[in-house]
Amino acid sequence: MNIILFGPPAAGKGTQAKRLVSQRGMVQLSTGDMLRAARSSGSALGQKVAGIMDRGDLVSDEIVIALIEEALPAAEAAGGAIFDGFPRTIAQAEALDDMLKGRGARIDVVLRLKVDDSALIERIAKRFAEEGRSDDNPESFKVRLAAYNAQTAPLLPHYLAQGKLVELDGMSSVEQVAADIDAALGAVVA
Ligand code: AMP
Repeated sequence: MNIILFGPPAAGKGTQAKRLVSQRGMVQLSTGDMLRAARSSGSALGQKVAGIMDRGDLVSDEIVIALIEEALPAAEAAGGAIFDGFPRTIAQAEALDDMLKGRGARIDVVLRLKVDDSALIERIAKRFAEEGRSDDNPESFKVRLAAYNAQTAPLLPHYLAQGKLVELDGMSSVEQVAADIDAALGAVVA
């Protein structure tokens, strides 16, 4: 099964993806984590994307599509992928559909975590204080939220039209969201 965890930054996608990995043996494909790993390794790719990420802008479709393409075979072999933070643009969504189709696979469900902007801003301020992630500062977060609204939210009709969109209340507790995700996945399998 291939799942997309969809939502704005700080909606709880990473937290829920990690739980699904430990409980279901699926593989989390987080382009944000992959890009951060490239930065820490000091690779050419990492150096290229550092400034873009710190500003809060999206890196190019070409870069993230290539990262996903490389990681897909292992994820499928493990029983499926949880896409976290990808796709973020229409071009990425179309490329993902094509990549999966070429492998005889598809996205089974898109789980959208809905969270109010004011709650996101509070969560990010807390994460910035605790973890000091460079793009969690208030200015960059504003840009990230704007990028979500302008470039990522327009994917919702794409997945709605495919009949794959499930809306979940991301304002609930971590445990409640986890239970809602399990119920949604149970309905997909059945
Ligand atoms: P995230 O951890 O998912 O919030 O991603 C952190 C940053 O990495 C984003 O603000 C973007 O600069 C970059 N990034 C991650 N995933 C993507 C993507 N699918 N498309 C473009 N940029 C991305």
